[in-house]
Amino acid sequence: MTKVGITALIPPELIFACGKKPCDINNFVPLSNLQPSNKLCAWTAIWRDMILKNELALEYLVVVAGGDCHNALVDGQKVEMKGLPTFFLFYPFDDDSDYLKDQLEELTVFLGGIKEHKAFKEVKEIKKKILEIDDKRIAGKISAEKAFEIMVSASDLRGDISEFERLLENVKEEDIDFLSRIALLGVPPIYPDFHENLASLGLHVVYDELPYEFVRLSGVNIDELAKSYCNYTFARNLDFRLKFLEKELKRRRVDGIIHYTQFACHHLLEDDIFRKNLNYPFLTIQGDMPKKTTKQVKLRLEAFSEMLGSL
Ligand code: SF4
Repeated sequence: MTKVGITALIPPELIFACGKKPCDINNFVPLSNLQPSNKLCAWTAIWRDMILKNELALEYLVVVAGGDCHNALVDGQKVEMKGLPTFFLFYPFDDDSDYLKDQLEELTVFLGGIKEHKAFKEVKEIKKKILEIDDKRIAGKISAEKAFEIMVSASDLRGDISEFERLLENVKEEDIDFLSRIALLGVPPIYPDFHENLASLGLHVVYDELPYEFVRLSGVNIDELAKSYCNYTFARNLDFRLKFLEKELKRRRVDGIIHYTQFACHHLLEDDIFRKNLNYPFLTIQGDMPKKTTKQVKLRLEAFSEMLGSL
């Protein structure tokens, strides 16, 4: 099946429906040893260099260029200039679903048209099952590490709907011991062992902000997709995102927030707004290149866990 690289949230339903295989190229970054020579954010610089070195065997690339990441807009063009057919999708800043519908229709043409209508429903059913996993981890019945691994993979379902369904069937419930309930806001940490480290300190992540967006948005046709995905919080204004966050933090009975920020990412600038508006104990962590969680970060997480325990 033709492999379509995606740089951020692009409805995987639509790519499967066009008879193609979505591949979220960010998922290769945390385990990469590549040292990009020209970089701002390591996420885009590493996937850019991986594509330019032909390490990902993509036939198309879809870049989220508006409403989320401007580094991807430039690095995506560098890849396009080398000949990879590339589509640039721009999310609306408001809730203009007609605008997004036009974008998704253009994307459908770029991908050769819809061939597998049933894929929309199949993905919707899988996302319902992933939401059940999210609920179970909120209830302390599934580890945060497992829930994160599954939810972050919902961006592309690892390119295979049936295989992903089998993966979900094998997830076992267990009783999780923890000290505090944590919300992890921002883009996912570039450290591959981050959730594992939090768990070892008694910090149970009950909310992974971005992966939850991958799962909760869906639809069984382009119209429904446009209406759902125009609520993608990372592309909307901060007031919309804050209201959404307040609701989720309350529902998940969060004790504290960890805001992961990435070096040279514009989302960094949101940190003081979150601190001012979200009334929870708050820790900001910043990462740059992919590697195991550093000692310095571990010490800060440990101190945060102790502080939450003393409240
Ligand atoms: S971390 Fe920020 S700059 Fe980097 S890819 Fe994500 S949104 Fe773009």
